[in-house]
Amino acid sequence: MEHWSTGRVGLVGDAAFSASPMSGAGTGLALVGAYVLAGELAAADWDPAVGFAGYEGVTDLRSA
Ligand SMILES: Cc1cc2nc3c(=O)[nH]c(=O)nc-3n(C[C@H](O)[C@H](O)[C@H](O)COP(=O)(O)OP(=O)(O)OC[C@H]3O[C@@H](n4cnc5c(N)ncnc54)[C@H](O)[C@@H]3O)c2cc1C
Repeated sequence: MEHWSTGRVGLVGDAAFSASPMSGAGTGLALVGAYVLAGELAAADWDPAVGFAGYEGVTDLRSA
C-alpha cells in the first residue's frame, strides 16, 4: 500500500504491514506501529492529519 491513512482513519499492525505469519515479526510490527503512531499523534496535539503524516514519514516500519 502506498498510504496507511486517510483523513481521520489510519491502519497499524496486520491491516497495514501484512506481515507473514511465518515471519515471527507480526506482533512486534503491530506494537511498534502503534507506539510510533501514538507518539506522532501526541506530538501533533492530536491533529490526525498532522499525526498521520508524521507516522507515514517515519522509517519504513515494514522493514523494522
Ligand atoms: C498461525 C499464526 C502464527 C503467528 N505467529 C507469530 C509469531 O510467532 N510471532 C509474531 O510476532 N507474530 C505471529 N503471528 C502474527 C501475529 O499474530 C499478528 O501479526 C498480530 O496479531 C497482528 O496484530 P493486529 O493487532 O494487527 O491484528 P489482530 O491480532 O488480528 O487483531 C485484530 C482485531 O480486530 C478485531 N476485528 C476484526 N474486524 C473487526 C471489526 N469489524 N470490528 C471490530 N473489531 C474487529 C479482531 O477480532 C481482532 O481482535 C502469527 C499469526 C498467525 C495467524
